[in-house]
Amino acid sequence: MNNLKLTGKILFGINNIYTVESDNRLYECRIKGKVFKQSKGLYNPLTAGDIVDFETDSHSEDQGVIIFLHERKNAFTRWNRKKMAVQLIASNIDILFCLTTPDDPPFRPRFLDRLMLTEDKSYQTIVLMNKSDLHVNRQTQERLDDYERIGIRVLKCSAKTLEGIEQLKITIDGKQCAFAGHSGVGKSSIINILTGRKTQKTSEISYKYNRGRHTTNYSILIPLGTGSIIDTPGIRDIFIKKVEPVKLARMFVDFLPYIEKCGFSGCSHAAETDCAVKKAVINGGIHPDRYETYLKLYSELTEISEEIYGPAYS
Ligand code: GDP
Ligand code: ZN
Repeated sequence: MNNLKLTGKILFGINNIYTVESDNRLYECRIKGKVFKQSKGLYNPLTAGDIVDFETDSHSEDQGVIIFLHERKNAFTRWNRKKMAVQLIASNIDILFCLTTPDDPPFRPRFLDRLMLTEDKSYQTIVLMNKSDLHVNRQTQERLDDYERIGIRVLKCSAKTLEGIEQLKITIDGKQCAFAGHSGVGKSSIINILTGRKTQKTSEISYKYNRGRHTTNYSILIPLGTGSIIDTPGIRDIFIKKVEPVKLARMFVDFLPYIEKCGFSGCSHAAETDCAVKKAVINGGIHPDRYETYLKLYSELTEISEEIYGPAYS
């Protein structure tokens, strides 16, 4: 058997064995003592959605060795506090769906704020409220309306009644999408509806590699017609990658019109009195909840930075 050099997409990786799809075939690949320059300093070198070159083994045509990582268009990451490193969750995405629910688990807008926060403008962020069959209270609706006001798209759907599922299908069509949210928001239910039998096949394979463990703690890419969904592990708390504190405000799209108007450059929008951001919070330009998210994150990057990012991290 000859070694073939192929290009494929990573569907998922468990214990440093990556399942790569190339031309509708799956290959089980390892990385051989290779560190990819794009993954320096990251907790995991590769993730679902990465495009790689690999060579098939001469003794087994379903196995191979990853030899090259194609440049990523983008990556959705978070700070893994336990591992004290940036963790890759999904790469090369067009849309990040931040899943939420009116109830069960409760609506947590500050968690959504954190999920959405990024300096990267190369992917779209959509808030997807599943379980729309449950009652949406006034406060929740007000926050959803505010997301729309600041330019973040909000979609509602129900995996139970199928309301909004067609619209979701149309939005996903031809795109590589990531689904992120707390466990219990209905990620699996939605994916099952969107894919039908195909998911089962994928999860059977992942189940085999995961040595029987049923809860997913890794991302998995599920092809869906011309598009795909990267299902990410249920996230409980989310921390952002460490950035210079002055850069934080610029990651809040709704703060942008005000930042330049602050009394002096380098304003932290926290302690200063002559602050356009703070004024906007008072006169309704910025939602108070969003500002609270900002203050909390600002303190994570400054006062309690060591607690979150460790002393050695710079
Ligand atoms: P995941 O942890 O995000 O994958 O969530 P699951 O898909 O496992 O769903 C968690 C629970 O919510 C299950 O009991 C589902 O039956 C339920 N569920 C999922 N979607 C809906 C929905 O649209 N409406 C209601 N009422 N329940 C839902
Ligand atoms: Zn300011």
